[in-house]
Amino acid sequence: MTAGQPGSVLDSPVLDVTDLRRTYRVRRGLWRKPAALRAVDGVSLALQAGRTLAVVGESGCGKSTLARMLALLDTPTSGTIRIGDADAAAVQGDEKRALRRSVQMVFQNPFGSLNPRRTVAGILDEPLVVAGELSRADRRAAVLDMMARVGLRPDQAERYPHMFSGGQRQRIAIARALMLRPRLVVADEPVSALDVSVRAQVLNLLMDLQDGFGLAYVLISHDLGVVRHVADEVAVMYLGRIVEQAPRNALFGRPRHPYTRALLAATPGVQRPPGAEEPVRGEPPSPLDPPSGCPYHTRCLHAVQACRNALPALRQVDASLVACHRAEDIA
Ligand code: ADP
Ligand code: MG
Repeated sequence: MTAGQPGSVLDSPVLDVTDLRRTYRVRRGLWRKPAALRAVDGVSLALQAGRTLAVVGESGCGKSTLARMLALLDTPTSGTIRIGDADAAAVQGDEKRALRRSVQMVFQNPFGSLNPRRTVAGILDEPLVVAGELSRADRRAAVLDMMARVGLRPDQAERYPHMFSGGQRQRIAIARALMLRPRLVVADEPVSALDVSVRAQVLNLLMDLQDGFGLAYVLISHDLGVVRHVADEVAVMYLGRIVEQAPRNALFGRPRHPYTRALLAATPGVQRPPGAEEPVRGEPPSPLDPPSGCPYHTRCLHAVQACRNALPALRQVDASLVACHRAEDIA
């Protein structure tokens, strides 16, 4: 989590995203017109080398859709993604290949994302073979080096994924993601499938690797408790939008948005913020039929008429960006 020196090249963002949208066309029965589901609806964010941005929110709010776009695995409906100096939509050929290498993704289920028929060494070697830059001996050395960095022993190199625990499999998936030395890693619920007892170990590993490689992380989670110790910055999503974004201490110390407060009230082990809400209740509204005005108003304890009428813009309130008409009133 080391930030760049002021004014150094590290200060220019690794990731810079503007007004990103992803709309899915979904059928709602045979005779009805396909509807537009706005899974991600105008997200802007930036991230520096060595920093971690956590994206949190309930299931269905658009986190994975955002993650796939940031990892260049899905194409936005509109908006721009800049990685370093490159516009992801504009680059071609070799530049595009280099850009794809510079962003890697870690998925929730390390079993599903690892080829069961390949050994650990084979899995880690594969991206190097595709890149075609190293000799066999150098690739072998790089594989063993990366295994050591993620806490795997050399004698485990010829074992298959099913021979490892969930936590070790996630170590393998992380190692594979780092083989081509990306600048940005997008991790979608990387510890959600793991036993609670090993979550902290895997998060600590991610943090150690971040320091070692100067990586930028987008860390996706439905659980504020998971991101509490590792995020520099936290973005809270609701129905495809960021409703609050703040430095970690500001978000946990003084959450501004009623939804953030409600999420925190539902997070075990996190001190309840002053004026804490009730934990968030019920299900979020369908993104196929989002509420008028502020999308959170149907569940908000503080909603007034203005909240039903007008969509609140994301605006600066002290250290935080908040999309709430009443941010000052409820502080
Ligand atoms: P999260 O990761 O936060 O749970 P997702 O990004 O997976 O959210 O989904 C956001 C919304 O987009 C949900 O309403 C989901 O049903 C919908 N969605 C996701 N993928 C597709 C798809 N391929 N086609 C249609 N709708 C989708
Ligand atoms: Mg998801």
